[in-house]
Amino acid sequence: MKASLVLGRLFGIEIGIHISWLFIFVFLTWSLAVGYFPQDGVLAGQTALVYWILGAISSLSLFLAVLAHELGHSIVAQRNGIPVKNITLFIFGGASNISREAASPGAEFRMAVAGPLVSFGLSAVFFTAFFSLGQATNALSAVLIYLAQVNLILGVFNMLPGFPLDGGRVFRAAVWKLTRDETKATRIAAGAGQAIAYMFIFGGIALAFIVGISGLWLALIGWFLASAASASYQKSVVSESLSGTSVGTVMNAAIITAGPDLSVEQAMALMLRHSQRALPVIGDGYFLGMLTLSDLKHLDRKRWDSEKISSIITPAASLRTLKRGDDLTLVMEIMHETGYNQLPVLDNGAFLGLVSRADLLNYLNIKLELKP
Ligand SMILES: [Zn+2]
Repeated sequence: MKASLVLGRLFGIEIGIHISWLFIFVFLTWSLAVGYFPQDGVLAGQTALVYWILGAISSLSLFLAVLAHELGHSIVAQRNGIPVKNITLFIFGGASNISREAASPGAEFRMAVAGPLVSFGLSAVFFTAFFSLGQATNALSAVLIYLAQVNLILGVFNMLPGFPLDGGRVFRAAVWKLTRDETKATRIAAGAGQAIAYMFIFGGIALAFIVGISGLWLALIGWFLASAASASYQKSVVSESLSGTSVGTVMNAAIITAGPDLSVEQAMALMLRHSQRALPVIGDGYFLGMLTLSDLKHLDRKRWDSEKISSIITPAASLRTLKRGDDLTLVMEIMHETGYNQLPVLDNGAFLGLVSRADLLNYLNIKLELKP
């Protein structure tokens, strides 16, 4: 999930909102202002302006509550040595972009449980504040009781035991701890995630016949959960399969390289002949950089014959490079982050080979086929 608008940084983590969040903000403000606050027993008898202001305040507070929940996950992740790139708020809540999976069931448990604990804590604070007002019916108490309930729901919903919800991660950590088999734990927790997702979908559709269109909202959340469950499952299987294997195992050392004085025309011919999408450039035994097809896009075809490749390659300093001993999960992270299709492997500045997406896929295919 890419943020459309970056708000700033907290604890070194970039905080952003996705465009879909604006829809939920408007929708929520509207439904609170028109449907929720004017009800008898909530805050009847106010002007429309008051309702709209309270609606907007409550929606913004909900945004802060979701952010606090996500920060709970992210801060515990950082404490466990796992970098967190950003937090993005979107239509169904928030998502922390945690760079890799926890290495142990204990770390997984602590990371997963931190978010709901923040929500339950906030709920307790708002309930306490509400009751300390002596249950008066005014604007402040109406907002407080709303926030108390909404944080409680946020905590309870996220603790449902279906992966990738927080409760599903807690469940996965428990199965992982018991069976010592991470893949099996992920499979079981993701199965529970699918089951819960389908309960939401069918429950939501059934509810739509009883209470009207708002039941479909539940079905929509279920549909989102179902796709998140299968995507997260695939992602964990991939990263579990790659984890523990070093770059040296899959690296392709039989790569044609070129010197910096080659012309672009000659380099192109070389790449075509050897079906290479990238050409590592070596000078005096050192890796200077890479020529890729995208470097060629900016060069006029007429100059291919006269231009040396050294003038258009992406220099080593601006490339992400690997070491022979790096873990394949790191390769996956870097490719995901940068969009590069191949990465050079170096040893003290000397070129050893390339790792491409295709190399990773081949390795995965073999590994998954060999699995019982
Ligand atoms: Zn959470």
